[in-house]
Amino acid sequence: MADILRFADNLGPAKIIQVYEPTIDLKAVLVIDNIAMGPAIGGIRMAPDVSIDECIRLARTMTLKNAAAGLSHGGGKTVVYADAKVPRPEKERLIRALASALRNFPEYVMGPDMGTDEECMAWIKDEIGHNVTGLPAESGGIPIDQIGATAWGLRHAIEVALPYCTCPVGFSLAQARVAIQGFGAVGMNAARFLAEQKAILVGAADSQGSVYDPDGIDVNKLIRLKEAGKSVIDYPDGEKSDRDAIVGFECDIWIPAARPDVVTEKNMERLKAKLVVEGANIPLTEGAEKYLHDKGVLCIPDFIANSGGVICAAMEYRGKIESEAMEVIEKKVRTNTRLVLEESRLKKITPREAAMNLAVTRVEKAMSFKRWSIY
Ligand code: NAD
Repeated sequence: MADILRFADNLGPAKIIQVYEPTIDLKAVLVIDNIAMGPAIGGIRMAPDVSIDECIRLARTMTLKNAAAGLSHGGGKTVVYADAKVPRPEKERLIRALASALRNFPEYVMGPDMGTDEECMAWIKDEIGHNVTGLPAESGGIPIDQIGATAWGLRHAIEVALPYCTCPVGFSLAQARVAIQGFGAVGMNAARFLAEQKAILVGAADSQGSVYDPDGIDVNKLIRLKEAGKSVIDYPDGEKSDRDAIVGFECDIWIPAARPDVVTEKNMERLKAKLVVEGANIPLTEGAEKYLHDKGVLCIPDFIANSGGVICAAMEYRGKIESEAMEVIEKKVRTNTRLVLEESRLKKITPREAAMNLAVTRVEKAMSFKRWSIY
């Protein structure tokens, strides 16, 4: 009892649900963090090394992200303990069984995350008929990863953040050197949008390794390679290293777009960027973020920078179309990034502290209208 409640605080989590079906080896956990603002939206992550702790922290990130984005949704997350690369029929069985187990939780709206995709969401819709976002266009969805909804938000967060950088004071996106950790849906689209603004991609990493080329990596060529099922280390030019080398690459803008806790107290001194824009959820530990802030490195927190995906999901849930979603993402991410950075400058607090103040104030206000509080 004490163990499962170790993360409980005044915001949540409201419910932690174990899903288990031994005949197909389905092991999953759903965490519904806080639904004071509305039904929880949060993705389904499938990986062999997920954990309940990760799920609880990610569900909280979703509560904060939805609140900071001004969406009438709470936060939730599901983790499935399985290899995302299992054969498709096996994956379909796992996802359909999960959906079936969660059909009676109307306060939770499912969506894709690492290891799940639009097809998985279509199976869920077929199984339970409702409460799912991130569907393929053919099933009435907005293809979040294909259009690069999250990366579109990152690109705008970066543009707003640049004038707030202090070392050196402001720099322009054109010719800015960018390194991206994780070259999947978020990383690839971020590279694409930033290249359109004439930024130069100097480094990229995926689970196989990393590539560094100070003369600039051809973004389209790298995307084509990845789409052909290859790794960034198959890029013909540049210097190849192990995947963690990306943390120390010389660059102006560093974008984590892979796993949590990739910059910690153990490696934070290696980071050389002036601006860190968090595409992944919880990629930096609190200590690492504080250290970088004190060094003058601007860090735009995850739940402000990468909220494009959930804004898109919320728009899909409301029956909006792609162009409307992209417009709302641009507007919301720009406004919130500016709000947070102004507050951070004015009150001399970190951007994360400012973002927390913004999100928690909104959640607490919604909680004050409830008969209970967090649900
Ligand atoms: P994805 O599965 O499409 O891509 C992940 C990429 O990271 C892959 O290229 C993979 O090889 C690489 N990778 C995995 N482990 C790595 C490691 N240790 N070092 C370097 N690279 C590694 O996932 P995605 O949808 O692009 O999501 C990436 C991150 O962004 C996740 O943390 C996710 O929670 C977060 N996020 C995604 C969205 C979205 O819209 N997809 C929205 C908000 C946040």
